[in-house]
Amino acid sequence: MVSLEDLSGLQTRAEADLAEASTVDAVDAISSALLGQGSPIAEARRGLRDVDPDERRELGRAISEIAEAIEAVVDERRDVLAAIERAEHLAADRVDMTLPGRRPQRGSSHLVRQVWEEVVDIFTAIGYTVASGPEVETAYYNFDALNTPPTHPARLESDTLYVEYGDDPEGVLLRTQTSPVQARWMESHDPPVYIVSPGRVYRRDAVDATHTPVFHQMEGLAVDDNITFADLKGTLAYFIEQFFGPGARQRFLPNFFPFTEPSAEMHTSCHVCGGSGCRTCGGTGWIELLGCGVVDPFVLETAGYDPSQVSGFAFGVGIDRLAMIRYDVPELRYFFDADMRVLEQYR
Ligand SMILES: [Zn+2]
Repeated sequence: MVSLEDLSGLQTRAEADLAEASTVDAVDAISSALLGQGSPIAEARRGLRDVDPDERRELGRAISEIAEAIEAVVDERRDVLAAIERAEHLAADRVDMTLPGRRPQRGSSHLVRQVWEEVVDIFTAIGYTVASGPEVETAYYNFDALNTPPTHPARLESDTLYVEYGDDPEGVLLRTQTSPVQARWMESHDPPVYIVSPGRVYRRDAVDATHTPVFHQMEGLAVDDNITFADLKGTLAYFIEQFFGPGARQRFLPNFFPFTEPSAEMHTSCHVCGGSGCRTCGGTGWIELLGCGVVDPFVLETAGYDPSQVSGFAFGVGIDRLAMIRYDVPELRYFFDADMRVLEQYR
């Protein structure tokens, strides 16, 4: 049987224990130990039935008072700790609404593709059609139809990547230029011809700052009545101004290509220094940009055209080279590495 004396110390013990409790769970455990099943309070209440009825009421009230007093301090402590726990939880879960959101990363066109499309747009705007052809090409279209004799050094295995095909391992290759497209187009279309042909081309080159075994080129071809070198100059001047902006100048230097006569390389005034000479242009004020010329009558004749009726011009420009020049990219191979630090600069 529990006596009132035993219970009198309970409230003090409860206050001391609760002051030590640091969580709501600890408060509940203390509450259960002092008031729950098997606790001194529960035992005291159970002992009441053995008490003399005269004393029972008084003793019962005393037990209830002590129990209520303990419940009150338990509730008070629980409220304090619950508030602290709620505040900590909110702090941990806090969302800073002023932070910028996280966007999912989106893909974008490669710089070479951007320049490719821009150059194509410049020509389609003045009536050119986009033509394409196979990357695995025959030696006939890549060389013979373009007036490149069997002895020409470009045809050597040291320069060209040949593909073994049937009995004729010498006759199939990865095209070394986009020019075969002009031969194919003329074969199946009557003049006038105004086409551009962008695409991948392949050479047996070791990788260095300005060479990779695969790169991008765009061929342009115009065949019509009375096409002259002046038309070529005018067309390329328009292209340069569209691509590099107003004020870009050009100069033409004689060169040789098997399928054009006369042939020229076109230089443009350096877009960095404006022509006064800098590191980009090697101090000359000029940058070599592309090869071009008046289509050799042999090429027209091979395609089935009459060179006495029509004439034409052709040019071939490196798309990667255009991108390198305009964006001052020092190494061609950057375009073929999947290095996002480089590519992300040109999104
Ligand atoms: Zn310069």
